[in-house]
Amino acid sequence: MRPLTATEIAESFVNCTRGEVKSMTPIRGLADVDWEVREFLGWRDPKAPARAYLVTVRNDRPLGVELRATTESRPGHGSALCDICHTAHPADSVGLFVARKAGQRGRDHHTVGTYICADLACPLYVRKLRPVTLPQGETAPPEERARRLQRRLDAFLDRVLT
Ligand SMILES: [Zn+2]
Repeated sequence: MRPLTATEIAESFVNCTRGEVKSMTPIRGLADVDWEVREFLGWRDPKAPARAYLVTVRNDRPLGVELRATTESRPGHGSALCDICHTAHPADSVGLFVARKAGQRGRDHHTVGTYICADLACPLYVRKLRPVTLPQGETAPPEERARRLQRRLDAFLDRVLT
């Protein structure tokens, strides 16, 4: 994705109020982000661990979504798959995240949920830039996995935006 400034990120959120944006803890280390290896930037809020943020560029415009982590872990046998990047993790390292929809539907409390890597580092996992602890069923090369990640991300964002 193309590089974003802290201001662009702060102004990108489509599913929360101005007050909620003000209370967000900005991502740390923005200057060190390698944008070439990112379909999105994701981080958890250290001051409010249930809050998480996903920021990407769509149609050349910054698009940010606030997510709420639930306490639910994915049903399974000790391991779980992320819906966005299909990386396998121990079950407690994949979380069910819920996003309020954008616009009026969000204000009417409509939400969409998906399972995502708890640290929101999907772009790093598909490129093997962050180690995993479990054997992986996914064997496609990183470029192909990155393309699939982008498609799944777009599908999730479509659900938030419509
Ligand atoms: Zn993931």
